[in-house]
Amino acid sequence: MRKKTELQVDSKAIKDLTNGNPLILKDTVVMPEASIEEGSLLHLVDKSGGYIATGYYGIQNKGIGWVLTRKEKEQIDVKFFTKKIREAAEKRADFFASEDTTAFRVFNGEGDGIGGLTIDFFNGYYMVSWYSEGIYSFRTDIYEALNAAVNTRGIYEKLRFDTNGQYIDQDDYVSGEKGEFPLIVQENGMNFAVDLNDGAMTGIFLDQRNVRKALRDRYSTDKTVLNTFSYTGAFSVAAALGGASGTTSVDLAKRSLPKTIEQFSVNGIDYESQDIKVMNVFDYFSYAARKGLKFDVVVLDPPSFARTKKMTFSTSKDYPKLLKDALTITNDGGVIIASTNNASFNMKKFKTFIDKAFKDYGARYKILEEHQLPEDFTVPHNFPEFNYLKVVIIQVMN
Ligand code: SAH
Repeated sequence: MRKKTELQVDSKAIKDLTNGNPLILKDTVVMPEASIEEGSLLHLVDKSGGYIATGYYGIQNKGIGWVLTRKEKEQIDVKFFTKKIREAAEKRADFFASEDTTAFRVFNGEGDGIGGLTIDFFNGYYMVSWYSEGIYSFRTDIYEALNAAVNTRGIYEKLRFDTNGQYIDQDDYVSGEKGEFPLIVQENGMNFAVDLNDGAMTGIFLDQRNVRKALRDRYSTDKTVLNTFSYTGAFSVAAALGGASGTTSVDLAKRSLPKTIEQFSVNGIDYESQDIKVMNVFDYFSYAARKGLKFDVVVLDPPSFARTKKMTFSTSKDYPKLLKDALTITNDGGVIIASTNNASFNMKKFKTFIDKAFKDYGARYKILEEHQLPEDFTVPHNFPEFNYLKVVIIQVMN
């Protein structure tokens, strides 16, 4: 039997939880003396023992667990999970029916009612990501629910919780048909090669779909495009397909070179006509400045934190500096696509970084577009803090 723990929550948290915030924070509950087992059901109550919500215990960077229901009698079982996944899939009916997009998010954790669990669709295959040991303890029921709710061709999974500080280099295959990788998926008519069984990432970040489309459709024609922190070069592919006169992709990871060649190739683009650099972005800025290179469009999409032998970079501290570096190699009238997935600050704060960078650099700017998470990355109503993605498309005015 699954363990059950009663937890008393403070009055501020009660208000938040009843307004629909699903996150259970450690300092808003009275923690029992005995430790709670991952995956235990949490019966959240007020001071006098009155029922507030039912959740599960699962340590994630943000909290100690997630609310699953606010109905006292509702059982957390296969039926519950099936209903949640079915509802989420119904919301994505347009994506399932789409002919030119075959990769999207089917289930977005807390936004679809089960924090710590995401499910992505890749051309019939499902990729399930588990963000805590607690949610992983529901694995059997959730897989039964997934198969009941949708037709799966094959299922793969990623364990994204700390397993004693190590990423387990496991076989990510779960059930059904085994995929042949790279698997080619479509996104607004662009092709992307993905591998569901090759380490922590798949080859494409689905949350940038609308930004890739914007870059292809509105900012690429006859432009030179620099894509920094380029990973597998997805933004470069979008730019090349949009008619860019040239793309330059810069990433530190050695694997980014073959992966970027692959993304170009599956789109019929001759990779030799594009520039791919395995290099530290900050060294590239100095290199470009020395060579007098300038670009019409610069994409900045750094990881929240990055550490190299020489330096550490944190978006919450160093974004203005990154933008200033980018400005030195952006043409007048050019466009900077500034992106961050750092959940620790919001869009308003991000815009202050942008403002500071342009002021310090001494340039004026105009915001052309703003993007946050796309439609399939559902976030809980009234709680914008779960909408971690922030992208601002900025025109440099001189
Ligand atoms: N923009 C990409 C995703 C970026 S993921 C996309 O849309 O697909 C972050 C990438 O930054 C990783 O591939 C990592 O290798 C790279 N990276 C981290 N620090 C770096 C640095 N200092 N210089 C260059 N690349 C870096």
